[in-house]
Amino acid sequence: MIKVALIGNPNVGKSTLFNELTGLNQHTGNWTGKTVGSAIGYKKYKDEVLEFYDLPGTYSLIPHSEEEYVTSDFVLSKNYDIALIVCDPLCLERNLSLVLQTLEVTKNVVVCINLLDEAKKQNINIDIKKLSKILKTNVVGISARKKEGINDLLDLLLQNNSSSFELKYDLKIEECIKIIDEYTKSKFESIKLITQNNSNNLIIKEKIKQIIEYLKDSNMNFNDYIMSTIINECEQITKEVLYIKGIKNKIKLDKLMTNKITGIPIMILMLMTIFWISIVGANYPSDILFNMFTRFGNYLKDFCINFQIPYFIYAPLIDGIYKVLTWVVSVMLPPMAIFFPLFTLLEDFGILPRIAFNLDGHFEKNGTCGKQSLTMCMGIGCNAVGVTGARIIDSKRERLIAILTNSFIPCNGRFPTLIVIFTMFFSITSNNLLNTTINVLLLTLVILLSVFMTLIISRILSRTLLKGNNSFFILELPPYRRPQIAKVLVRSLVDRTLKILLRAIVVAAPAGLIIWILTNIYIGDNNIIYIISNFLNNFGLLIGLDGVILTAFILGFPANEIVLPIMIMTYLSSGVMADINDISLIKNLFISNGWNIITAICMIIFIVFHFPCSTTMITIYKETKSMKWTILSFIIPLLIGITLCMIINFVGLMII
Ligand code: GDP
Repeated sequence: MIKVALIGNPNVGKSTLFNELTGLNQHTGNWTGKTVGSAIGYKKYKDEVLEFYDLPGTYSLIPHSEEEYVTSDFVLSKNYDIALIVCDPLCLERNLSLVLQTLEVTKNVVVCINLLDEAKKQNINIDIKKLSKILKTNVVGISARKKEGINDLLDLLLQNNSSSFELKYDLKIEECIKIIDEYTKSKFESIKLITQNNSNNLIIKEKIKQIIEYLKDSNMNFNDYIMSTIINECEQITKEVLYIKGIKNKIKLDKLMTNKITGIPIMILMLMTIFWISIVGANYPSDILFNMFTRFGNYLKDFCINFQIPYFIYAPLIDGIYKVLTWVVSVMLPPMAIFFPLFTLLEDFGILPRIAFNLDGHFEKNGTCGKQSLTMCMGIGCNAVGVTGARIIDSKRERLIAILTNSFIPCNGRFPTLIVIFTMFFSITSNNLLNTTINVLLLTLVILLSVFMTLIISRILSRTLLKGNNSFFILELPPYRRPQIAKVLVRSLVDRTLKILLRAIVVAAPAGLIIWILTNIYIGDNNIIYIISNFLNNFGLLIGLDGVILTAFILGFPANEIVLPIMIMTYLSSGVMADINDISLIKNLFISNGWNIITAICMIIFIVFHFPCSTTMITIYKETKSMKWTILSFIIPLLIGITLCMIINFVGLMII
């Protein structure tokens, strides 16, 4: 059996190659930190069994993050026969640095230049033979996605792959290393000794001293010296083997996307386009689903009445569970089924790291790091996912800030409620398309407000509870790639849409039952939900809301999607959810219960800033393993929401 360690920078197509080689299906993502831990797979080829270790992507063997530690440890352990280094010809120079570093550790190396199809498209030519000659090891060109060159690669892995490449250091340093080598018997060990400067051997000590002396003039330590030697060498090699023809349009596109002036507006426009397509596209299927479910519900009810099934059995099932469940499905499924594939397409295209790049400066100024914007983007899908995603942030302090502020970004489950409120109170025209555009603008404003609050609270946290220095990180801007539409569709529909919908359904069914019970059990003249909301009413009114709204948020703790149906059921206080696909009916119901424009604005603010849903809270506890941070993540957004609503209410009362 031949053990092969698969290493490479993030995003070079390592997982794609691993899947192609071993047939194991592994998720592939487009930003760093997606595949923590390593996967193992096997391939039988020409009577030989090859064992592949898919290690986390890394830029360097000097690790900066948890994932990089995994890879660096593995490479240094030499617990494998061949190091297969996958490279991206579009960023060859940076990729070669890892190749040269690995060659310092082990000589059994095969270099695999992937993405040749993409390079060809961009008029980039790479001289594989020459590269092989320079590196004095086997190099092969492949295209993992197109399954081209895989057998050539496997053939190489079966050969003897010992490189005789040596990095060239200055003569003086070379001499010293040679002498140290006589004791350590390994160049890598010698370099490690020099870097750590902790040998007891007098001769080695003397040689290290000479090296330090020698480097003093250039103001470098040994580590810096090695890195700069490697960087120079990489530059040299790249010049010799890489030919680029024509102008690269993508670089122009990148300039526009990451430009200080155009970058952020382009991102906002893209977000708005996704919202617009999701809202317009969802309207029609939502209506169809709603009507279908209503008709089927009526049919079920008639059936129960005809067969004389007792009221107390069918009513909670149909008026409680069924109605809330079908509301959640018809309101959530269509926009999610459109939003997630679009969002995943952007992710695959390589947009998210650019968003992080554009926002990095703003986050840094507020005491935290740009990767937080990636977790924010994930939060738009689902806050629990955003919280887990914060693992990509290496510094504990910055990770906690990202976790504590993630729920400020309204997740997908909150969008439908926001849109219904926008439509009720801000649709000023009779033109549907224009109204949708207004909704999109408002939704974007809400997101901008949440980003703004995220920055402010991050700043406050980084100066109080979570004081510390900003961390340094390499943010890679992977090249733009044509996304694989079919894969994106499957991944976004199965991985995201269905998973989140399923969670909402699991919560909605019992919630429907509880709401039915609360609205149908009377103490004296009033049902329980009325009693609870009456109790909360004064406080609700103080912050521009009312007791019913607060009750709905409390009962909606398991999933924000059910807040609106709870409010409607409670206002109707009939225990039966009316057919609420007609928004003007809901509006009339709300207005007759005391709503006005201020209630609507406060409601919007409270949807964005209140406590995270139960799933997110559980995830926060799992990630932080601390009750203190979990409780704080509950209190902080709630306090912001209450304060903002109170201010809006008082200002509103003075104006109106
Ligand atoms: P990893 O981070 O190194 O594991 O990279 P992935 O395997 O996740 O690949 C990153 C992206 O590159 C994905 O969108 C892949 O579909 C794409 N990709 C991988 N190999 C190729 C290839 O040979 N050609 C092209 N055009 N794209 C590829």
